[in-house]
Amino acid sequence: MKTKCLIIGSGPAGYTAAIYTSRAGLDPIIFEGHTPGGQLTTTTEVENFPGYPEGVTGPQLMADLRKQAERFGADIHSGRIAEVDFSSRPFRARPDGGEWIEADTVIIATGASAMYLGLPDEAKYAGLGVSACATCDGFFYRKKRVAVVGGGDTACEEALYLSTLAEKVYLLVRKPYLRASKVMQQRVAERENIEIMFNTNTVGLYGEEFLEGIHLAEHIGTPDERRFDLAVDGFFLGIGHKPETEIFKPFVELDDHGYIKTFNSTTVTSVNGVFAAGDVADPRYRQAISAAGMGCRAALDAEAFILENPA
Ligand code: NDP
Repeated sequence: MKTKCLIIGSGPAGYTAAIYTSRAGLDPIIFEGHTPGGQLTTTTEVENFPGYPEGVTGPQLMADLRKQAERFGADIHSGRIAEVDFSSRPFRARPDGGEWIEADTVIIATGASAMYLGLPDEAKYAGLGVSACATCDGFFYRKKRVAVVGGGDTACEEALYLSTLAEKVYLLVRKPYLRASKVMQQRVAERENIEIMFNTNTVGLYGEEFLEGIHLAEHIGTPDERRFDLAVDGFFLGIGHKPETEIFKPFVELDDHGYIKTFNSTTVTSVNGVFAAGDVADPRYRQAISAAGMGCRAALDAEAFILENPA
């Protein structure tokens, strides 16, 4: 198989890149990965994607984007790319159990996944009180009580955002200090309805149908250990994200946190002809709409590259 543009990943960035590259006549091939539609397929209601005044479910939004890409002829494949070789052009990529594909350009849109604590109950209450995205789901906790776990900038940012909606926010920090930047720490300290609970680990979640509270352990594993429950309606993970960049590592430059580096406010990576879009290259905004915008930019960058560097 050979293509002018191979798109790896199928969140808002991947599908938007597919819409644009199809319309530009690049006949893209897109590999959807092991979660077709990406992170949004695990959320319920999406109310902040422009164009849906009544809101839309995550899976529906992704199905709409996919359909739009198909309409213009994108060749959509299920499954993930297992291996790439970007050492020379044409670039090469191999799907799980498949033959090598040759591509003049590649758009990487493999996303990032929020890290979870690893408690079995997290999956049980996913969408029923457990979330890893305050901007996506915070609205549902207006005037309610929520907890955020983590002590870095992500957790502080989530706690600050939630504090504008929820009645009370508990910030659960396993160490006796925050790791977040000073300015974030100060903002959190100044917010009256945020209570920081240091030396506190989450050991379980409870609730009948929806989440009703969390089991906590203070000073876990020490003689001072104390176990208690905290009633909350929402439990937000803020312990970091992991970009899906493992297979690209040998070829593409990554930042200290494993995100793909892009240059000069474009989607250009350290490899000429390989572009990156969405959460895999964006530790800061991480929104469906900003990922879609970056997917559009990657498609335009790929189109320009092909014009300037014909195969
Ligand atoms: P960090 O790695 O900085 O922080 C993760 C936090 O989660 C730490 O407090 C860590 O605790 C805690 N944690 C990790 N695992 C567990 C666990 N199993 N149980 C309980 N707590 C846990 O990740 P962030 O996502 O916060 O930040 C990543 C990078 O992105 C940073 O460079 C940050 O500055 C940047 N960022 C910047 C933002 C901004 O500028 N607005 C917003 C968000 C992120 P411990 O300290 O004990 O390890």
